Amino acid sequence: MPRYHIWTIGCQMNKADSDGIAAYLEQAGYTRSVSADGADIVLLNSCVVRQSAEGKVVHKLESLRSRRGGRVLALTGCMVDSDIEGLQQRFPHVDLFFPPQDLSALSRFMEGRGLASGGVDPRSLAAKPATSAFVNIIQGCDNFCSYCIVPYRRGRERSRPVDEVVDEVEGLASRGTKEVILLGQNVDSYGHDLDGDASLAALLHQLNAVEGLERIRFLTSHPKDMSDELIEAMARLDRVCEHVSLPVQAGDDGILEAMRRGYTAGQYVRLVERIRRAIPHVALSTDVIVGFPGESGEQFQRTFDLLRESRFDTVHVACYSPRPGTIASRKLADDVPDAEKVRRRKAVEALQEGIAAEINGRLMGQRIEVLVEGRKKGKWWGRTRTDKLVFFEDSVDRRGQMVDVEITHAGPWSLRGEVVV
Ligand code: SAM
Ligand code: SF4
Repeated sequence: MPRYHIWTIGCQMNKADSDGIAAYLEQAGYTRSVSADGADIVLLNSCVVRQSAEGKVVHKLESLRSRRGGRVLALTGCMVDSDIEGLQQRFPHVDLFFPPQDLSALSRFMEGRGLASGGVDPRSLAAKPATSAFVNIIQGCDNFCSYCIVPYRRGRERSRPVDEVVDEVEGLASRGTKEVILLGQNVDSYGHDLDGDASLAALLHQLNAVEGLERIRFLTSHPKDMSDELIEAMARLDRVCEHVSLPVQAGDDGILEAMRRGYTAGQYVRLVERIRRAIPHVALSTDVIVGFPGESGEQFQRTFDLLRESRFDTVHVACYSPRPGTIASRKLADDVPDAEKVRRRKAVEALQEGIAAEINGRLMGQRIEVLVEGRKKGKWWGRTRTDKLVFFEDSVDRRGQMVDVEITHAGPWSLRGEVVV
C-alpha cells in the first residue's frame, strides 16, 4: 500500500488543512507514515507568519533535497503564493506547489501521475471523525494589520455557506465527533459576505441543536468585530464553551494604531469586562507581539500592565518579525534590538506563568467535566470546557467520552486529576 507523510507547522488553520489532505489521501488508498523516509509522497504544510517559521520550512525542504529518492515532494500552506515560478526556481526538487484551499490541484496532480486510485472528489471529503474536529468556516482576512502577511497569502475573506457548514458538522457528529472548533483568521466576521443575515451568532444557534454534538468552540475572534449578539449567544447556548481567543497584540494606543488593529487598549479592556460579566468562569486567551517598530520601554510596560491586570488564562507572545510586503515592513524600521525583544518576551512569559499557575491553582479539588481525546505517555488526556488540558490515569478506554475529573495537581500549562465515577 502506498504511504504518505505530512509535516505541518503553524496555526490551527494549517492543522485543519492537513487533516483534509490526510483524509483525501487515505480515501485514495494511502496509509500514513510517521517519517518522510518511509513515504512515497511527502507533503510539507508551511507557515510564513514569522521569519522563524519560514526558516524551519526552508530547512526542512533543504534536508529533503538529498534524501528525496524516488518519492514525490509537495509544498502547500502560506508559503505557496501566486509566484509559483519563483518557488520552482528556488526549490526545483519539489514536484508540486499547491495552495491549501485548492485540494483539487493535489487531486489532479495525483491522477496525472497515476498516483491516486481516482474518482475521489476532494470536495466531498469531511475531516477525519476525531473526537474533536476543526471546521473552517471563513477563509482569508480583510484586516491588513500592518505586521501581518496572512491577507497577502490567504486572500480576502470568504465565508462558507451556512448549509455547507451545518451539513459538515452534522456529518461529523453522526460519525462520533463530540466537539467542533470553528476556524477563521477573523471568525467573528463570518457571514458578512453571504446573502441574508448570516453571522457567527446565528450559526452557533443552529449548531447548538445538532444531535450528538456536545461542545462548540470558535477561534480567532477580533476585538473590533466581537458583537454583543455573539457574547449573548455564547452565554445562552449550552454547548458553546466558555472560552474566547481574543488577541490584543499590544496595550499601548500608539502601537495599536501603528498595527492598524482598529481598537484602543481601553476599548479592549471594556470588551473583556463585558464578556466576563456575561459569561462567568470564561477563560480568555490572547496573543501579544513585543518589539513592534518604535515600541519604547514605556509602551511595552503598558502592554505588560494590561496583561497583569486583565489576567488571561493563556498568552501567546511573539517577538515582532518583519514580513516582506506588509505595511510595517515597508514603512517602519525594525528598530527594537533582538536582545530587547527577547527580554520583553521573557518578561511576559514569566508574568503569565505566575498568573496561569494562580488561575489553575483555584481548580484544585474541583470536579470538572473533561472530554477525553487521547492517550499520551501512558495517561489519558482531554480538555475542560475552558480549554484546559487535563491528564489522568484509568484502565478503561474513555476516548470520546465526557468524564468528571477531580483535580489533584494544577500547574500553569496543564492539570492532573482522578476520574470520579
Ligand atoms: N487573526 C488573528 C488576530 O487577529 O490576531 C491571529 C492570526 S496570526 C496568523 C497569529 C498570531 O501571529 C498573531 O496573533 C500575532 O500575534 C502573530 N503574528 C502575526 N504576524 C506577526 C509578525 N509579523 N511578527 C510576530 N508575530 C506575528
Ligand atoms: Fe493577520 Fe490581523 Fe488578519 Fe489576524 S486580523 S490574520 S493579525 S491581518
